[in-house]
Amino acid sequence: AELDPATRGLTQHRDRVLGGSYRLFYRRPVHLVRGEGQYLFDADGRRYLDLYNNVASIGHCHPAVVEAVTAQVQQLNTHTRYLHETILDYTDEILATLPAPGSPGAAWKAMYQCTGSEANDLAVRVAREFSGNLGVIATSEAYHGTSDLTSGFSPALGSGQPLAPTTRLVPAPDAYRQGLSPAELGPWFADRVREAVASLQADGFGVAAFIADSAFSSDGVLPGQRGFLAEAVEVVRAAGGVFIADEVQPGFARTGEEFWGFARHGLVPELVTTGKPMGNGIPVSGLFAREDVLRAFSDRIPYFNTFGGNPVSMAAARAVLRVLREEGLQEHALEVGALFRDALGSLATTHEAVGDVRGVGLFTGLELVTDRSTREPDRDLALAVLEELRERGVLTSVAGPHGNVLKLRPPLVFAAGDVDTVVQALDESLTALGA
Ligand code: PMP
Repeated sequence: AELDPATRGLTQHRDRVLGGSYRLFYRRPVHLVRGEGQYLFDADGRRYLDLYNNVASIGHCHPAVVEAVTAQVQQLNTHTRYLHETILDYTDEILATLPAPGSPGAAWKAMYQCTGSEANDLAVRVAREFSGNLGVIATSEAYHGTSDLTSGFSPALGSGQPLAPTTRLVPAPDAYRQGLSPAELGPWFADRVREAVASLQADGFGVAAFIADSAFSSDGVLPGQRGFLAEAVEVVRAAGGVFIADEVQPGFARTGEEFWGFARHGLVPELVTTGKPMGNGIPVSGLFAREDVLRAFSDRIPYFNTFGGNPVSMAAARAVLRVLREEGLQEHALEVGALFRDALGSLATTHEAVGDVRGVGLFTGLELVTDRSTREPDRDLALAVLEELRERGVLTSVAGPHGNVLKLRPPLVFAAGDVDTVVQALDESLTALGA
């Protein structure tokens, strides 16, 4: 694509000074300078509808977060080795959103970090101390983090990143590609987990944890029906392992049905990790652990995270929780998400390439195929659609093992009026590409 001089200049500057592992979106990279609600604005003042961002979950630059952060950063920012109310007040509030911890007399305990990677890294260390085992089970396209430990069970990083010897992958619970009915999905998935457990045991690692993002977002957005995950989690527990609910994607009301993604499955995880939407863009993440599971770790190993749980991050996190409640964003996600999938589904009548539309709340996957009967994935079309959508002012990305699933995950303030904008842009894009 022909780049204007300003875009070319920034792109070249990036190439010159930033590490080569960074990836830039779009043939014509987007230079964003401002955000508001579900919209982003580029340097030329052009407005984009953000369908990508579950970080700015309550809306870009939400005034409640701006004010909370501003007030706290003017007063004090320090670490968790001094007393401070904000971390305690936030912890009371967030723990109240979790279900009763399951085992008698148990309580939840919170530990804070800055990224989802750190939360998952700590969760696996905790699971290993608790279980005395080393094995970790994850899905075949999962992404759980950047650290050495978490990248070892993040196959989404590709073949250049070796998996740890203690990792076993299970296929994603993909009812569409596996041709499974809702009733078959849970038992089928539990069987795959059983095989992974047997393999870890045969190799002498045992099972420390099964970790899953219950939206299965990098696996191609596969939330499935309520309850199907429970059987697999029981298999892991019977082998002495724990369930780590990675809530970086489905947490904080995104599914609409529940505040936490795992709650759709009627189960209580031993460990819950959070990230992205927790601070609406201010770096903050957390591990919420059942006390009895955490103890083996906390009795022996000190933990200090310089920035984790600092008063500014906690002030942002408190504001996010308040706004989610006050603006009724969970109910909103449920309603608008259903409208959105209905409207997207109607595109299938005119575009043969629309193979499947699925999701929960404001998390939707739209699968593009070369042929609806064979379900042959159309990765090239998906990539071309991304570029077409960008030209029409809609930003999103792709997911899944074949890279053919449009991942539609707007801030939760995405409105009914935005549905039409997206459906029209998608309709035009598919038509322009002859699909
Ligand atoms: N878990 C999941 C499910 C994620 O999607 C991500 C980030 N894409 C992470 C963990 C890692 O979070 P972070 O980038 O904040 O380290």
